[in-house]
Amino acid sequence: MHVLFPGSFDPPHLGHADLIARAASLFPRVTVAVAINPEKKAFLPLARRLDLLRAIVAPHANVDVASYDGSTAAFARGRGCGALLRGLRDGRDLTYEAGMAAVNRDAGGIDSVFLVTAPAVAHLSSQLVRSAVAAGMDVAALVPPAVVAALRAPGA
Ligand code: ADP
Repeated sequence: MHVLFPGSFDPPHLGHADLIARAASLFPRVTVAVAINPEKKAFLPLARRLDLLRAIVAPHANVDVASYDGSTAAFARGRGCGALLRGLRDGRDLTYEAGMAAVNRDAGGIDSVFLVTAPAVAHLSSQLVRSAVAAGMDVAALVPPAVVAALRAPGA
């Protein structure tokens, strides 16, 4: 089955990279899709996030990168995906994701599959990485190498 892994990826971090690597070995095809949200001011420009994700998926021949606006379910179905893939870090993710999955299934016509986050990266979120960058911290332990350089000049 071809799965769509949607998110903001602002910025991509090691939790995302771990999920992508595991999905690549579980599914014949994976599309990592950046949701464009015009109402939300992005930390990294869309083009930058796409470039970084392309670097992260480069070792996986069966993973590609895309962006979309509007309905995630419609985009996934249009690409021929059989399910959405999401990560579960904790109980809060489960509560939120259960509602989203029900809406995507009942109103969007596509089901969701979930991978439980690896404990070593379960604490990571894009918000935490942005906070660490704002505090001038070294984020080499939080994000893949390609992202470290991009975070030195987020708006460039
Ligand atoms: P959102 O969809 O809320 O913008 P993100 O861009 O932060 O979320 O994340 C996209 C996807 O990556 C979601 O399915 C999320 O559960 C998953 N994810 C986020 N953080 C991690 C992590 N630390 N480990 C594994 N998966 C994660």
